[in-house]
Amino acid sequence: MFDVIIIGSGLGGLLCGSILAKEGLRVCIIEKNKQLGGNLQTFSRNKQLFDTGVHYIGGLGKGQNLYQVFKYAGIMEQLRLKKMEEAFDHILLEHDPKEYVQSQGYDAFIKNLTTDFPEEKEAIIRYCYLLKDTCDRFPLYRLTMDNAASKDTVLSLSAKAVIETVTSNKKLQAVLAGNNLLYSGVAGKTPFHVHALIVNSYIESSWKCVDGGSQIAKLLGAEIKKRNGTIIRNCTVKRIIEAAGKITHIETEDGRHFAANYFISNMSPAATLSSTQSADLKAIYRKRILDLENTISSFSLHIVLKPHTVPYKNHNCYYHKEGHLWNMNDYTADNWPLGYGLYYTTDRKDKTYAAAVSILTPMWFKDVEPWQDTYNRAGKEGDRGTSYEAFKNQKTEQLLALVKERFPEIVDNCAHVYAATPLTNRDYIGMTDGSMYGIQKDFTDPLKTVISPRTKIPNLFLTGQNLNLHGILGTSLSAVLTCTLLLNDNTLVDKIRNA
Ligand SMILES: Cc1cc2nc3c(=O)[nH]c(=O)nc-3n(C[C@H](O)[C@H](O)[C@H](O)COP(=O)(O)OP(=O)(O)OC[C@H]3O[C@@H](n4cnc5c(N)ncnc54)[C@H](O)[C@@H]3O)c2cc1C
Repeated sequence: MFDVIIIGSGLGGLLCGSILAKEGLRVCIIEKNKQLGGNLQTFSRNKQLFDTGVHYIGGLGKGQNLYQVFKYAGIMEQLRLKKMEEAFDHILLEHDPKEYVQSQGYDAFIKNLTTDFPEEKEAIIRYCYLLKDTCDRFPLYRLTMDNAASKDTVLSLSAKAVIETVTSNKKLQAVLAGNNLLYSGVAGKTPFHVHALIVNSYIESSWKCVDGGSQIAKLLGAEIKKRNGTIIRNCTVKRIIEAAGKITHIETEDGRHFAANYFISNMSPAATLSSTQSADLKAIYRKRILDLENTISSFSLHIVLKPHTVPYKNHNCYYHKEGHLWNMNDYTADNWPLGYGLYYTTDRKDKTYAAAVSILTPMWFKDVEPWQDTYNRAGKEGDRGTSYEAFKNQKTEQLLALVKERFPEIVDNCAHVYAATPLTNRDYIGMTDGSMYGIQKDFTDPLKTVISPRTKIPNLFLTGQNLNLHGILGTSLSAVLTCTLLLNDNTLVDKIRNA
């Protein structure tokens, strides 16, 4: 019998596992995939490693929030990271040949943007003040359990509106929100605090994982095993069984039963609810969760470049078509894609060149509905057919045509191009619509889209990107909250801060 069973080995599940194992609990993680990590998974094509869901990470500078969490979890020392160049993101706008930058360190952030917008210096300073002030209102983000009441006043602020109050300069607005693909920015939905918590973490410090983000999953998995934890792969949880107000065990697709005192689900809240019929999870709670809208899914290209053709850039690029900054998801078949994010991978033998590039753009699941009854992932392979291949080829051409306008050297030097669609996301992660970041946060009804790690069943907890904030940092902080509540120990965060 285990103390805790964790369903899913995404970052949230693994971090809960390593923290709870460190606290002396007997942990068991059950993962449906062959590879641990969920969005941390990497894959290899033509000897080139690609990340699926981690291009860069913020907050990993010494003493910063994610650094402390990873240090406490026992993996910080072994992580192989490379700091990005001062300007971590370059923002490219249609009809403007310039590249604008967002930089690490608030002084550099202000200085570099002021060079491009000298008349906007006061606005840029005010914007930075608002970012920091907003982050200060979220105690867990600052690794304390202080009163969180002061955050209530900012939850209903819109990201777009706040940026527009800071400056009326349309170009500067576009630059400040230029990396909003990071949280799938939507004009009428995205809260300013989501923008602030994420952008601030990259301004504090921006890092790339050397040889992929899957190292985080491997290191956390090793920590769990070192502390007598159990990890079971290739095992899909089918049902979560409740009796007399407590979860007693889970049942897997292959018919096995696993019992424990506590259960944490790293699946989405909707998938968790669908797995348990317990009447203790009231119809109104179920309806609220099941009705929540998810963020959009994505279409990605993973490109292996011809050797020594494209110089490596230690920054990311975000491109927006004019007039579509906050509505990149409202594309039509003709004008798709309305923007993209572009991420370089260095050549291991000659670091001045890029060996690969990944390009990401939003795509709704409905675009791949004709093939929704197919299934294909490592360990459970299937064929989606020739019409699906034709769809991928057509979308690849459309995206590459747009990329070529600003990056001809990349498009002219592709050796191999691999495409992933919302179906790929669905089959590897388990969100039925392939959503990139889980639940879409909404400033018009903020509390509706914040999910507590607690459920009405006292020994069933939730964790993962769907709770408070997505991303490597957001998911890690949610894991800390889940463990704090499960252990009923508010000092956990102090131990992490002082690690
Ligand atoms: C394209 C993309 C790019 C991204 N880029 C970045 C980035 O650059 N920086 C950043 O900070 N964040 C990025 N993110 C976000 C970040 O990767 C995620 O927020 C984070 O990894 C989510 O972790 P999670 O714990 O919620 O679990 P998930 O990664 O969602 O994993 C859930 C796990 O549960 C398993 N599971 C599901 N159902 C079952 C079941 N029934 N039985 C057993 N196991 C099950 C899944 O297989 C999976 O392993 C990106 C995400 C995407 C999609």
